[in-house]
Amino acid sequence: MKNYVYNFGGGTADGDGKMKDVLGGKGAGLAEMSRAGVPVPPGFTISTEVCNIYFQNKNAVPAEINDQILKALTKLEKQIGKKLGDPKNPLLVSVRSGAKFSMPGMMNTILNLGLNDETTEGLAKLTNNPRFAYDSFRRFIQMFGEVALDVPMEKFDHIFDKQKHKAKVKSDTDLSADDLKKIIAEYKKVKPFPQDAHEQLAMARDAVFRSWWNPKAAYYRNMEKIPDEIGTAANVQAMVYGNLGDTSATGVGFTRDPATGENVFYGEFLVNAQGEDVVAGIRTPEPITDLEKIMPAAYKQLREITASLEKHYRDMQDFEFTIEDNKLYMLQTRNGKRTGPAAVRVAVEMVEEGLIDKKEAVLRVQPQQLDQLLHPVFDNASLKTLKLVANGIAASPGAAVGRAAFSADDAVEVSKNGPVILVRKETTPDDIHGMDVAKGILTAVGGKSSHAAVVARGMGRPCVVGAGSLAISERNKEFTTTVGGKAVTVKEGDWISLDGTTANVYLGKATTNDPDPNSSYFGKLMKWADEFRGNFGVRANADIPRDAKAARLFGAEGIGLCRTEHMFFAEDRIPHVQAMILARDEKSRRKALQKLLPMQKADFVGLFKAMDGFPVVIRTLDPPLHEFLPKREDLMVDLARFPYVDSKAKKEMSEKYRIPVGELKKKLPELLHRVEELHEFNPMLGHRGCRLGITYPEITEMQARAIFEAAAQVSKKGVKVLPEVMIPLIGSAKELENQKAIVDAVAKEVLAKAGVPDLHYMVGTMIEIPRAAITADKVAVFAEFFSFGTNDLTQTTMGLSRDDYTKFSKEYENLKIFTADPFAAIDQEGVGKLIEMAIKLGRKTKPDLEIGICGEHGGEPSSVEFCYRVGMNYVSCSPYRVPIARLAAAQAAISDGKVEASRTA
Ligand code: PEP
Ligand code: MG
Repeated sequence: MKNYVYNFGGGTADGDGKMKDVLGGKGAGLAEMSRAGVPVPPGFTISTEVCNIYFQNKNAVPAEINDQILKALTKLEKQIGKKLGDPKNPLLVSVRSGAKFSMPGMMNTILNLGLNDETTEGLAKLTNNPRFAYDSFRRFIQMFGEVALDVPMEKFDHIFDKQKHKAKVKSDTDLSADDLKKIIAEYKKVKPFPQDAHEQLAMARDAVFRSWWNPKAAYYRNMEKIPDEIGTAANVQAMVYGNLGDTSATGVGFTRDPATGENVFYGEFLVNAQGEDVVAGIRTPEPITDLEKIMPAAYKQLREITASLEKHYRDMQDFEFTIEDNKLYMLQTRNGKRTGPAAVRVAVEMVEEGLIDKKEAVLRVQPQQLDQLLHPVFDNASLKTLKLVANGIAASPGAAVGRAAFSADDAVEVSKNGPVILVRKETTPDDIHGMDVAKGILTAVGGKSSHAAVVARGMGRPCVVGAGSLAISERNKEFTTTVGGKAVTVKEGDWISLDGTTANVYLGKATTNDPDPNSSYFGKLMKWADEFRGNFGVRANADIPRDAKAARLFGAEGIGLCRTEHMFFAEDRIPHVQAMILARDEKSRRKALQKLLPMQKADFVGLFKAMDGFPVVIRTLDPPLHEFLPKREDLMVDLARFPYVDSKAKKEMSEKYRIPVGELKKKLPELLHRVEELHEFNPMLGHRGCRLGITYPEITEMQARAIFEAAAQVSKKGVKVLPEVMIPLIGSAKELENQKAIVDAVAKEVLAKAGVPDLHYMVGTMIEIPRAAITADKVAVFAEFFSFGTNDLTQTTMGLSRDDYTKFSKEYENLKIFTADPFAAIDQEGVGKLIEMAIKLGRKTKPDLEIGICGEHGGEPSSVEFCYRVGMNYVSCSPYRVPIARLAAAQAAISDGKVEASRTA
């Protein structure tokens, strides 16, 4: 029969570090450490497959697998010289979850398993420490009760607090053995629990499996895109105790700083405590370096082991350890979660230290993580104007501004109206939905490894923990603190600014500055990425010169989409645009267009200059014309009330509609009439895109004139211009033929007149209608390039409104009908097929056809990988996503095997 259970410990292991699929991350780490001779409490891992079998088998583990578990247990008992359930010499174990991907705190753990009335007495005798034995037993009943028997924790808390009150003690540690005995007697009345240790083990294992479907675990998987099918392993491991007295301790740490990436030993510990106390954030632990003073030998060994683990895994390790009576045990090691800046720094420094090569460094950083390096940082001058209300421990860097909310549910509510900062005494895994919507997280207690810190870093959210001066009242939805001797209260909805780098918290809204995209670590990584990316280009979508400059700074190699209608929306241009639309004949339309021409030309001059030497794709007008006109409903209301309003209201109307007061009476009905004429039932499928240029050729003509006059002007000044004129929403080759003829005619005339007849330019089209993709071979006859407008292509292929999808997106994505938002990540199965088809057909007609993408998907890593794979020449995305796309493209190139560092940086 297949093997489902794997022993580890004592210098050997059945499994190894590569078996994460089978053993989960924790189990694989324990196996690998055991093999490397690291002191690990022995135990065994029940594989992830058993979790799935358990669910398929109506929540039961089949007998054959139970036999394997029993065998592994017998081996463990022999190894350690203790027996599960033996009153004289009891073996106690922990039962912990552990999936392939780390899901911190989302699933269940049971410690001290094997204790019952008899074994507790045995333990008391063996350790000569009855208090310890009873405390362990009451902790076990609590954990087992909550996890395996579904007893609400409050029931136990109530009993516990009552006894503390009776005994007149403040701290848990002041309870005597007798007090604990009384608590145990009361606990046992809450719900009968099994005295048989083997029964306990089976129930704990099953509870760990069931915790795979805890709502918070399911939420976390959804958020982190971890598949539901992989299941969790269950690790059964001999207990070691960090709470045996002052020669014992427990802690967690990282081999480097997971917030900044700096190569320093990082972590914390608690003397005389059990593992969960550190991560739960209930007691604020000591910095790990202080361990050296208290337990020098164990500290030295810890440093040596963790350093060798980092070398072995060639990555930053996140470890857990326990010191039982001065003897060190490692409980876990895994590649540590880290912030974006830390991911970049660790990858770069590991190359410099010779641990990994450049290719591996480029693969190590998730493209999406770069987002954190590209986001604004606080403007110091603005911080100085705000009141500093708290300082804590910097747990995850970055600037966050938002309204305070004091529970996860409230955070979700507040976030509906704008950014929110979640403020908690400490967070628990139950807060995950609140943390998810929060721009930043602030806690009053807990250290750098507390739940809040670990999860926030994983999410890349700025986070400050352990801000001890805050007195938080969840009930009153406020916190109070003292500033300069005066009490300050911050209530739900108040703005706060949180700096995850300095750990300062300010009252009010601070302003932010753009980050430096070329900082040394980041710059180095991007340079390596570009070497691997080869000739696959990354351009930016930018409409105005300022965005074009930002795009260049982020490494864009050209503009992949300039939406010219965005230039029309400016305050001083709208009247001319309206005049153009309202024009009843071509002559008056041309007059209005003539006014717009110099404005467009000036914008193009700015774009060409910013992109000196790089291509600039300029798209002719796209949106439905009514978008430039007032709302029909507004006009109807104003027209109806016009005879009755005073002169002030008339003045307001005059400003609103840009019609002189004296002409309102005559012009308002005309305006309404025209708006009604232009009204469409489905504007997205209506009179937009090339359909505008075809019905009003003078618009295309004016735009082409502006483009080529600008190009001629700057090229004469020595700027290298590469204009690419792009026609939107093409469904048939004939549409493109029509528009291309206009553009070419204008180009010929303008360039000849300007004395630069040979200035190179291209005319191409967007592919954003399925028919264009299906007939791409015909379209390509008239196109020198294609650019996939995947926003519209997704909308039209799926028959799904790009503006309304969010109304039911949650349900669709939760039910896994869509694996991701199709407007964010390309639906490769459907829309992707059309793209592939269009590329093949297009290149059949023109083998050298330049092909790119300019929909929102162009900056999303899985879509970038797709675009690379199907043979596009470039992607284009918003300026801030350019580095993400550069890295994603490099990773695609590496995975594709095309890793020759062909590019000269
Ligand atoms: C698109 O449809 O993908 C596109 C880039 O055009 P727009 O978003 O302007 O419709
Ligand atoms: Mg479009």
